[in-house]
Amino acid sequence: MKPGKVLVLGAGPTGLTTAYLLAKEGVQVEVLERLPWAGGLCKTFQHGPYSLDLGPHRFTPHTDEVYGFVKELCGDDLMVVDERVSFYVFGGYLHYPPKLGQLLRRVAPWEAAALGLSWLWESARGAFRRSADSDESYEQWMRARFGGKMVDLIFRPIVEKTWGLPLRDLSWRLARQRVAVSGLGQAVWQVVTGSRGELYRSRYYPEGKFFYPRKGFGSITDRMAEEIRGHGGTIRLESQVEAINLRDRHVASVEYSSNGRRNTTIADAVVSVLPATVLPMMLTPVEEDPYLEEVREAAGHLRFRKLILLYLVVERVPIYEHTVAFFPSGDFIFGRTWEQGNFSREMMPDERSVFGAEITCWEDDDIWTADDAQVFERVIPQLEAARVVRRDEVEEYFTVRLDYVYPVLDRHFEKRLKAVEDYVASVENLWINGRPGLFSYINIHQAIEMGMVAARHILTWNKAAWQQDRERFWEYRLIE
Ligand SMILES: Cc1cc2nc3c(=O)[nH]c(=O)nc-3n(C[C@H](O)[C@H](O)[C@H](O)COP(=O)(O)OP(=O)(O)OC[C@H]3O[C@@H](n4cnc5c(N)ncnc54)[C@H](O)[C@@H]3O)c2cc1C
Repeated sequence: MKPGKVLVLGAGPTGLTTAYLLAKEGVQVEVLERLPWAGGLCKTFQHGPYSLDLGPHRFTPHTDEVYGFVKELCGDDLMVVDERVSFYVFGGYLHYPPKLGQLLRRVAPWEAAALGLSWLWESARGAFRRSADSDESYEQWMRARFGGKMVDLIFRPIVEKTWGLPLRDLSWRLARQRVAVSGLGQAVWQVVTGSRGELYRSRYYPEGKFFYPRKGFGSITDRMAEEIRGHGGTIRLESQVEAINLRDRHVASVEYSSNGRRNTTIADAVVSVLPATVLPMMLTPVEEDPYLEEVREAAGHLRFRKLILLYLVVERVPIYEHTVAFFPSGDFIFGRTWEQGNFSREMMPDERSVFGAEITCWEDDDIWTADDAQVFERVIPQLEAARVVRRDEVEEYFTVRLDYVYPVLDRHFEKRLKAVEDYVASVENLWINGRPGLFSYINIHQAIEMGMVAARHILTWNKAAWQQDRERFWEYRLIE
């Protein structure tokens, strides 16, 4: 049964892809988005003469379908850009993949020997242990592959800073998704050969490059929104979903607030990209449903990290040579920095640079409620200490604060998420998807594929096939 009308909750890349593909097939689509823009985390905004992304974004497609989809949207604006990723460690930048000479200059021989010995020790222990299984923590998974010394030196500080939890409390799934090399052996091989490894190899762009739209990453989602409207679809911005009314495990209507007014809308199917932590609280069955209380309890323990993006307008071009530089050490409040002009110079029309620093936090951390000047005062001495940017070069600064950014895959998340998924599976015309909806830590090419798969199964009204196809989303790996 092809649905007549589909309601999409959340206008990020996942929801927009589904809405666009359905609208192309003649389905009436209505998209509700709480923010004043469509695009979710993939948005380019204007600040004076500068076009700026919400953090550093690169497009690294993995299938012909996803590449073709974005290429058709962006045309010749899709450029191939040099990837220059670095880690600020041992008092200087180490390129990724690291070069042998650079490593020898940065890492003292006794430190290198300690790294190797600790890896050998863990490998020997691993030979007597059972193989990787699902009750491993991030810490166990990493130690078995890299040795304890490497974990303590590089991984622990950046991971704990990003996710806000001790390594032992995070799930092995997060490590598997995020870490590009399979172990210290492969890392050494990369140093020797200068290769980035399988994950970074693509038939769409040469190794060491990525795709980027000339006028900003948000052009991809802007184009999707235009196409949806062009095919007769509706995107309602500043429309916050408040309630999803259920009757006999069927979505009867959806309520949203816009301009201070409460509105109601209906559709044959509803696709929700709303955060998995929020959706169960919005489900409102007509009849009492004790099972839903359990689901809410489980969802209440799932958490997202928030993100503060600090932007500095600096009177110097370039600030550094990197597209992205990571700052793993606990000496820095930020984990990653980027320079927008190194993605596309066209976004910086004058002789200034815009530099960004990412700070992840919990809602109750002081920094989340600190004003822009306080955030700047925390960051600038650290940037000066690392000789990245000087205070007297900064002409202007401001922050953007984002919710529901990083799903925290702790050791219990799978059980809790399953409770939400099982409930949704029992609601005939409700589908959940996307990074916040499926609580999955994904890139845009994966979000687009998820949106495509959902559209395909909604068109044929095959929820069982969707449930099955979704399993492979677990296999997604992240390119950072
Ligand atoms: C700093 C940063 C860097 C990144 N770098 C890359 C990169 O280099 N390459 C890459 O491919 N990907 C990157 N990503 C990831 C990429 O942005 C996401 O994978 C993608 O945005 C996920 O799309 P989504 O539609 O699933 O979710 P989202 O983009 O989160 O969209 C969900 C939407 O739902 C809306 N919503 C939430 N609650 C409500 C409500 N109650 N009512 C209505 N609407 C609601 C939200 O406002 C949002 O617009 C990065 C992300 C960040 C934060």
